[in-house]
Amino acid sequence: MIDNNCIFCKIIKGEIPSAKVYEDGEFVVFKDVEPKAEVHLLAVPKDHFPHLSDLDGERAEVLSHMLAKIPQIAAENGCVGGYRLVINQGEDAGQTVRHLHIHILGGEPLAW
Ligand code: AMP
Repeated sequence: MIDNNCIFCKIIKGEIPSAKVYEDGEFVVFKDVEPKAEVHLLAVPKDHFPHLSDLDGERAEVLSHMLAKIPQIAAENGCVGGYRLVINQGEDAGQTVRHLHIHILGGEPLAW
């Protein structure tokens, strides 16, 4: 599903520019426009759904595929000594874009 009002759907469709570092049939990875670490990437499924709590079997398979690919993508993009994955779910976590995404943070020692 695509949501025409969603900024990440617009990035996926190429309507808004992004610094893409990876793309396959299931998801894209691009640089966060306001990086919170030396390396800050966002892994975003092409199927629009807002929250981790919206996962069903098919979406869980996509998420599993993303998690399997992320180690290689992180390594190729400068996460040498490790990295942190973050999914913000909902208001209390500060989620601002309501299209599920995994933050990949690294490239330096991270404070908690
Ligand atoms: P979250 O708070 O988990 O919803 O994270 C949303 C992230 O998307 C933030 O870190 C933003 O900096 C990032 N972001 C918003 N708009 C763009 C954009 N056009 N290109 C790249 N990253 C973006």
